Amino acid sequence: MSGPVKVSFSRMDKFAKCGEQFRRSYVLGDWGQPTLPMIRGKSGHAGTESNFRHKLETGEDLPIDKLLEEVSADFDIRSRQNILLPDDMAGVPASKIISTTKDQLIQATRNFHTHIAPVIVPDFIEEKIVLTFQGIEITMVIDLADKTGSIHDWKFGRLRKLDDANTDQLSMYAYGYHHKTGTMPRDVRLHGVNQDAWNTVVGTRTKADHSVLSRKIKTFVKATAAGIYLPAVQGSWWCSKKWCQYWSDCKYVNPQATEPYEV
Ligand code: SF4
Repeated sequence: MSGPVKVSFSRMDKFAKCGEQFRRSYVLGDWGQPTLPMIRGKSGHAGTESNFRHKLETGEDLPIDKLLEEVSADFDIRSRQNILLPDDMAGVPASKIISTTKDQLIQATRNFHTHIAPVIVPDFIEEKIVLTFQGIEITMVIDLADKTGSIHDWKFGRLRKLDDANTDQLSMYAYGYHHKTGTMPRDVRLHGVNQDAWNTVVGTRTKADHSVLSRKIKTFVKATAAGIYLPAVQGSWWCSKKWCQYWSDCKYVNPQATEPYEV
């Protein structure tokens, strides 16, 4: 790589999961086809951003009909792209899989609007923060910080486990929050929401977490400078036809391999 060293949670996470994915996307600029879970997440986020921008201005969440209309339109636009669909669709047409995913997203958005949004009073949203640390440029976008000093992030798809409150992504947001406000966040909150349920896990961050994150960032920078991109560990769920957009032509897997079976 040339130019200044750029660090973001997405880059670090991708590199840790699979160096080859990192090389294909960030080094070669080959982003592959989006998957349905990616589209669902982006459209869900577009809706939450719109909701909280409205709330920042008016003090009210968006009316539910307006929110669902926006999410639906966003999903329709994104799903017209060349999406990577799972090979094993058991005879179900692609259009049916896409419309089912959309229905699930709409119901998840209803759950978000009813159960999560009303208790959040935004202070700032989608805040892009760029900070320089020992010559390294670190970029992040904090989904939302509320008036009580909590940082919020949300994921559409599955509920969150307690461990999910310990991620480096939330540590990085806490780092950015401190950079912007001069204080540590009260806590970090991760919301999981799908068509059936929702939950929130909460963690805290201290200066000690900044030190841990700083060490990880410095190691990431050294590792990428070495240009060695290890493939995903065998058995990783993201190294599969369903989840990796590079599966069909990845030099580290055999896409023609037959599924194992038991005798
Ligand atoms: S198929 Fe596996 S090894 Fe290849 S890029 Fe994807 S995750 Fe990495």
